[in-house]
Amino acid sequence: MTLNGITDSFRKRIILGFTLLIILFLGVMITVEITGIPFTDNKGTFAAQRSKTLSDMELASGILGERLSSWFTERRVDVDGLSTSPLLRKSIESRSAGSGKELADELASFLASHPDVAAVVLFDPFTTAVRASSGGFGDARSAADIGIAPDKFARLTLPGYLETVEIVIAADKKPHLRILRQLLATDASNRIIAILVAECNLEESLRPLIWSVRSNIISHEWGGDLGVTIGGEVAQFHLDARGVTFTNTPVSAVNKFSPIRLALSGIEGPYYGLDHLGQPVLAFYRQVKFDRGISLGLVLKVDQHIAAKPVRDDLRLQLALWCAMFIVGLALCILMAKQLSRPIRELTGAVERIASGDLAARAPETDRTEIGQLALVFNGMVAQLQTWQQDLEQQVSERTKELQQKNAELERFTYTVSHDLKSPIITIKGFTGSLEKDLAKGNYERMAGDLKRVSDAADKMNDLLRDLLELSTIGRIVKTPEAVDMNLLVADVLSQLAGPLKNSNMAVDVQSGLPEVFCDRRRMAEVLQNLLENAIKYMGDQADPQIQFGMREEAGEHIFFVQDNGIGIDEKYHKIIFGLFNKLDAASEGTGVGLALVKRIVEVHGGRVWVESEGEGMGSCFCFTIKEVPQ
Ligand code: ADP
Repeated sequence: MTLNGITDSFRKRIILGFTLLIILFLGVMITVEITGIPFTDNKGTFAAQRSKTLSDMELASGILGERLSSWFTERRVDVDGLSTSPLLRKSIESRSAGSGKELADELASFLASHPDVAAVVLFDPFTTAVRASSGGFGDARSAADIGIAPDKFARLTLPGYLETVEIVIAADKKPHLRILRQLLATDASNRIIAILVAECNLEESLRPLIWSVRSNIISHEWGGDLGVTIGGEVAQFHLDARGVTFTNTPVSAVNKFSPIRLALSGIEGPYYGLDHLGQPVLAFYRQVKFDRGISLGLVLKVDQHIAAKPVRDDLRLQLALWCAMFIVGLALCILMAKQLSRPIRELTGAVERIASGDLAARAPETDRTEIGQLALVFNGMVAQLQTWQQDLEQQVSERTKELQQKNAELERFTYTVSHDLKSPIITIKGFTGSLEKDLAKGNYERMAGDLKRVSDAADKMNDLLRDLLELSTIGRIVKTPEAVDMNLLVADVLSQLAGPLKNSNMAVDVQSGLPEVFCDRRRMAEVLQNLLENAIKYMGDQADPQIQFGMREEAGEHIFFVQDNGIGIDEKYHKIIFGLFNKLDAASEGTGVGLALVKRIVEVHGGRVWVESEGEGMGSCFCFTIKEVPQ
């Protein structure tokens, strides 16, 4: 996988991680919203809505029950008012011929001022015949015509049986509230002068009553049932948005455990299940008790699906909001992942460029995070690498240059060696030829001279080969440098040169307090010996020969020197004399290897060597530097 590929997968993993986190969060939120938090009072929004609806229904059913009770009491008071009316009673007592008409008018005026009372009738207590009627009892002639059996009527005429209230199914097949009342004489005799029966059509009366509360306390989505037991059967009114309708539901269709049955049995409470029509409902039922042993069963109910609608709508809205949040969250997450991976991408880009050889590439250091720090360290590392690479390249180019110089030097050396070795061979060859001739001629005198020249040439060659061998070994046999006291070393070399110095009647003036140097002692002795030998050798015919060995300091560098007041060296030869086999005077003794040897030893020790001379006859000063003992 490439570095960029790794960065991409890093970004994908961040996005995936955040997405899962958001989904998990939203999932938990939705679950908590719907089901609530376990082991707490929070049972979720559906349960909360349910309990609120039930509590509203409990309150509404209580108020409605109160209103129904009041209505019932008001009707009794109405009938009571009529039955105790002195005017009506006097009219009954007068028994005048026109009293029937008068009575009917009075009853009609009562009905007109009491719209809830549908019909009213007066019976003679002894004959059960109708004395007067108004409203729905127009055709009735006797009590039996409106369903009051003779024995029941007889009971009504008993003293003290002042009032009876019942709910009956009237001639119109609808439940009616029937109030039966004794009318007593206006004197104090308590004589029953008539039986008054007043009826209220429950369906008609309840409709406006329920409408009056419907808009305030009963939600328009609710329905309800009002049940009443008539002759052992349950008659039901159905309350809905249209009003109140009496439904002649067969008793068998009403479940024994239906809310209406439970309400009629005198208990109250919430109901959560199927109603008598098999619909899932949420209901509250209670008994509404009237006086005189009459009671109704009241049920307020709502379809569970409708009850949960606000919660569902709310949840839908929340879901839409959460989806929007999820999308925004995802977009933010992608943006964040991009932001997070950007410095990594830039860093990997820089790494890839460096890996492909571009050491000048750098990662941007703008980011302040850990990655920014990493970029900083990384750039430092690359800069170091670049420096090393440049150093290495420089070293390689220096070494290459050095190697080229060495090669050229080797070429020159080979040429010089072969050239210089050739000359004694040519000499030997030449004289062996002349030896043959001398031998043939018997010229023995010349032969001795020739033989001497052959021998000298062989010696010369021997010296050359010895010095060459010496020179060639220098690079290899330099020992590990050590601290060497220059005072002791020069004294040692001078003791070896005591013979030549004495022979030429010279002395070397050595500067005192020379420092220690860091070198191969034997090689350094060779340097001193060569330089001092040359000073002796090339003194010329100086009347007052002087040789000095000392040290001077220039620009913080210690320069050792061997100075003489000998023949001196022209400036144009100052460099040449350090070359192999180079001699200024071919006739002089020596091989011309000494200074080359000196140069080589000094350079192997990391120093420099040069000659200072103002020209021929002006003496020479051979200088060299050498590493001193590190402090
Ligand atoms: P050699 O002494 O064997 O000839 P060197 O390499 O030691 O070889 O010296 C090279 C040449 O440098 C000498 O032949 C000589 O001409 C010149 N030279 C060396 N030392 C001195 C000196 N102190 N004064 C003058 N010339 C010198």
